[in-house]
Amino acid sequence: MVDQTAERIKRNNGVFREANERIRAAASEHDHGLQRIPFLCECPVEDCVQIVRLTEEQYAAVRANPRHYVTAVGHEESEAPVGQVVARNDGYVIVEK
Ligand SMILES: [Zn+2]
Repeated sequence: MVDQTAERIKRNNGVFREANERIRAAASEHDHGLQRIPFLCECPVEDCVQIVRLTEEQYAAVRANPRHYVTAVGHEESEAPVGQVVARNDGYVIVEK
């Protein structure tokens, strides 16, 4: 059961990460500067559509560690089987998994 959950979380992570990389690429093309970019919450809840706003710099800091993911505040609880909170920031939580 735990294995299945971990598998699903891993799969979802890949999907959201790809989507967020595309959002970041599109945002830098349009040069939004210091504005916060709307990224997708990377929690394992399948129908989660929460938007998490980070500056490109904040997002790059999360991505600097391949095990770090960004989730909306409160959504880090669904990471419990595999994720550990490493930082809480203004409007988002960084989880290591
Ligand atoms: Zn979420």
